[in-house]
Amino acid sequence: VTGFPSHLVREDLRRFAGYSSARTSFAGPPARIWLNANEAAEPNHVDPNGQARRYPAPQPERLRAAFADYLGAEADHVLLARGSDEAIDGLVRTLCPPGSDAGIVVCPPTFGMYAVSAVVHGVPVHEVPQVDTGRRFRHDLGAVADTVRRTGARVVFLDSPGNPTGTVVDPAELETFLQDLSDEAVVVLDEAYGEFDDENASWVGAVSRHPHLAVLRTMSKAHGLAGARVGALVADPALVDVVQRVQAPYPLPAPAVVVALLALAPEALRHTQARVEATVRRRARLAQVLATCDGVSAVYDSAANFVLVRATNADTLLDQLRTAAIAVRDMRHLPGLSDAVRVSVGTDDEVEAVAEALGQTRDPRTPAREDRAR
Ligand SMILES: *Cc1c(COP(=O)(O)O)cnc(C)c1O
Repeated sequence: VTGFPSHLVREDLRRFAGYSSARTSFAGPPARIWLNANEAAEPNHVDPNGQARRYPAPQPERLRAAFADYLGAEADHVLLARGSDEAIDGLVRTLCPPGSDAGIVVCPPTFGMYAVSAVVHGVPVHEVPQVDTGRRFRHDLGAVADTVRRTGARVVFLDSPGNPTGTVVDPAELETFLQDLSDEAVVVLDEAYGEFDDENASWVGAVSRHPHLAVLRTMSKAHGLAGARVGALVADPALVDVVQRVQAPYPLPAPAVVVALLALAPEALRHTQARVEATVRRRARLAQVLATCDGVSAVYDSAANFVLVRATNADTLLDQLRTAAIAVRDMRHLPGLSDAVRVSVGTDDEVEAVAEALGQTRDPRTPAREDRAR
């Protein structure tokens, strides 16, 4: 391992210092009186403890340490971000020269934000579609490597478990792919749904072996904090450093930091683990409900908190759910998914409401409550 391939960083950013905030630029003995950031002298009366009075630390140390600990990473490998969306955007901006041909590679069907960031930044999006094998999707990583070489793309985005597929990238294939591309592109593995994967096989630990690997994690899904907007990039410290210099000066609002820190305490993590287990159990029930539904032609294996299905009569299925005031995600606008619908795993009652809307009720001989309580 020879360290992060820094030629993949935009040349004009390699020595770029970024914004110098009052927080980070104060040197000298520890101050007693802080008059360097034009903050208010007194708290707002709705914030009597002054929790939000001052600009927050750019990378709050306690949260960074807690997130690193949770992920089994070193703190200097972790960059906190305003959701993983901000980390995605930061990687594109840091690695791809704007307006150049050095863009990104994505494997549809996949998360839409990768392409949005690239388009906004003015770089091309190269698509290498996944292969549909009926119960799961497969990434064609050989074709991805060829596309990187042919186009000079700087970043590859893979989501695993994938959205909307629910599929996990094959570990042996990913290992080969990482070795193959070691200094040609940064490979971003987005593990937004990692906690719901039964194998829970995170690649965070592989970052030290593969300095061009970047892993994204978030508190939006398993931790139930989508509204707090807290995510993290786990990468080689050299990449973390340059993405941070491109990042907004104070990315994480103080109240978001407080709630995220509480959610990473051991007791809260035990609750999260219990919710994840319940979700995984209900995912099986939802998949079974959908599989036995008229017109459903495929139910994909999911390692996430949703189930993707194909239906010959998707209109009818969507109508039935809409009539019951149940919103699901119509995926039919996406290439290769012209008959697909994605359903998130809700509470027990919400899953049963889906079953009922689709004309199914639990077989009265099966003991519903006991089954559900397991
Ligand atoms: C939901 C989701 C995210 C989460 O983004 P945040 O900005 O952290 O809320 C990231 N990646 C994928 C694939 C997702 O589906």
